[in-house]
Amino acid sequence: MCNRALKGSRWVGYTFPPSLPYKVQLGREGLRGREIIIEPFKVTSTDGQNEYMLLDCGEGTLHQMITMFGRERTNLILGQTKAIFVSHLHFDHHVGLFSILRAIPETRAQDSGVRQRPLLLAPYFLLNWIRLYSKHVLNISQDFEFIPHSVLLNANHTAREGLLQQVKTRLCLTDLQLCQVLHTKSSAGLVMQHNDGWKLVYSGDTMPCETLVKAV
Ligand SMILES: [Zn+2]
Repeated sequence: MCNRALKGSRWVGYTFPPSLPYKVQLGREGLRGREIIIEPFKVTSTDGQNEYMLLDCGEGTLHQMITMFGRERTNLILGQTKAIFVSHLHFDHHVGLFSILRAIPETRAQDSGVRQRPLLLAPYFLLNWIRLYSKHVLNISQDFEFIPHSVLLNANHTAREGLLQQVKTRLCLTDLQLCQVLHTKSSAGLVMQHNDGWKLVYSGDTMPCETLVKAV
């Protein structure tokens, strides 16, 4: 859904489509041998208030956003990011998270409005990486509200309903479901239905998965 604004023959930036929701698929930058590998990364609006959600956060996400949107608009998007969903723990789906979490408070510091920290929906083990990064590089442990997949996936967990409601309220959703999908041990798919009626399904890297189909 690439929508590029042209001035003469010069590319001057990305123009969002007028209708909501929109989804922007960027790419991951990574080196494998001498090749540059581009893999999916996505941004979607969650309602009409220019608010955003990141669906996975691969290597080079921040740089991809700056390349595509420009620094000023990237700061706006990051400042209005309500949630980040990490589907599983392969590096190409979460290594970009650290620079994103570093950048978000900086955008908010430039913004006069008081904004909530983004929700981070992710496998519990991701906290180990965040703790290591916070210890050795920069403390980002207070820059998000963590919601582990394991709680949302466990129908018997006492905190599940409260956390589901928290996410639904924050993202203006009428329905939210996570389900285990067929990839790594802690892989989750996401189905969400917005107050405005649209529905979004995100499956990460799953094989064809009956559980996800039923959740939709
Ligand atoms: Zn994977």
